[in-house]
Amino acid sequence: MVSRELKKIALERINRLMDFAERHAAERPEIAKEAILLAMRIAQKARVRIPKKYKRMFCRKCGTPFWTPNSFTVRIRDRRSTHVVIRCLKCGYIKRIPVSKKSKTIT
Ligand SMILES: [Zn+2]
Repeated sequence: MVSRELKKIALERINRLMDFAERHAAERPEIAKEAILLAMRIAQKARVRIPKKYKRMFCRKCGTPFWTPNSFTVRIRDRRSTHVVIRCLKCGYIKRIPVSKKSKTIT
């Protein structure tokens, strides 16, 4: 059982690490990746979720930050249901995000 206080601390650390990764991804991708991997480990241990705004910004398999140029490709597939396909160019991990046709949030 992870206490609520610990989760709060973990989330703060994750936010700080992700913020750090975002700022350094372009010029120092290796350091950004380390920060992301650390944030992922903290999230796992404390059983908290990575905040939504950061969730799609890195590869969950190898930790490569997608803020780094040439780190991923995006495709839109329209078979059966529309979904966005994000592919990590470092490890080949493929992430599919379903897109609701009624959704107006996609810009
Ligand atoms: Zn990857």
